[in-house]
Amino acid sequence: MKKIVSLILVFATLVVCCSCGATGDDTLSLTAMNTVMQITVFNNSKAENERVKGLLSDRIMDIDRLMDVNNPESDVYIINNGKAGSDISVSPETADIIAKSLEATQLTDNSFNIAVMPVVKLWGFHDGTYGVPSKENINKALSYVKPNGITVNTDNSVKKSMGVEITLGGIAKGYLGDELLKITKAEGVTALLSLGGNIVLCGDKADGSLWSVGVKNPHDDQGLACSFKSKGNKSVVTSGGYERYFEYGGKTYHHIIDPKTGYPAESNLLSVTVIGECGALCDAYSTGLYVMGKEKAVAFAKENNSFDFVFITTDNEILYTNGVAEIELSDNAFTLTAIQ
Ligand code: ADP
Ligand code: MG
Repeated sequence: MKKIVSLILVFATLVVCCSCGATGDDTLSLTAMNTVMQITVFNNSKAENERVKGLLSDRIMDIDRLMDVNNPESDVYIINNGKAGSDISVSPETADIIAKSLEATQLTDNSFNIAVMPVVKLWGFHDGTYGVPSKENINKALSYVKPNGITVNTDNSVKKSMGVEITLGGIAKGYLGDELLKITKAEGVTALLSLGGNIVLCGDKADGSLWSVGVKNPHDDQGLACSFKSKGNKSVVTSGGYERYFEYGGKTYHHIIDPKTGYPAESNLLSVTVIGECGALCDAYSTGLYVMGKEKAVAFAKENNSFDFVFITTDNEILYTNGVAEIELSDNAFTLTAIQ
């Protein structure tokens, strides 16, 4: 077979960063869900910090095991290789995340759709075997990408139709953030979780000041485009086509697929940051809104009215909702516009 990929670039993980005076000792780094995650716990004794970090990292590993598309023991693998029409038993977490995914699919009019997996696989984004598929193969794969190709039963089992396969790559880190926030709330600690492009601000800072969040500059891996402030107990999730992509024949192909065309979404947005209370929905929306593009995404956010956003457009405009506090440019190549 002709090798069609000339260059592969997989870009960094962290697109939103926070500052709040942590010391290096408080931070645990680990790799899960194909990305580097960092957990910082504040305000307790060292031994307490260690204990809570242990609880959080155990939960990360549990959820990673359930949702890893390439692990033959994961629920996702079992669903993807399961028999169409039969009841496939899964963990309560997997049933829950699929139910939330289906809600997001319906709300975003299919811009976010976990059933996009057959197309993701064709492009090689699931395992790094990147390549540009034929139109014929894309159309065939698209015939399995239906909004209702998978359903969740009440007894933690799912049912899928013929050929349906799922990826939770666009929502799993957001869901994980919600699960970790439950732990930090139960333990009564303040923590900062950086889950590869997803940030969870757990609790409020001890000095009462707001958290400070920086949005990565899509043109410069080292720099920021802007920064803003946020209250605690929020997820901040960024999706962008510059995060993971390959190049072939002078063209760039990124990992966010438009479920209507089967090609990487041709968006007039460079990055979409969604800020809200439900990390799973923020994550699903960040992917779905990127696919929608600026006009539809702004209209969706206004109508939905349950989250704030910071969009960076291909014209280097930064659009943000009024709920985003103290937003400031970090680079004058961008302009700031508030959306009423
Ligand atoms: P990241 O994983 O880099 O944080 P996203 O949250 O935007 O980025 O998720 C992208 C991942 O979601 C892809 O790698 C793929 O597995 C999956 N995906 C791609 N397109 C879609 C889509 N339209 N709807 C749902 N999931 C998608
Ligand atoms: Mg996402």
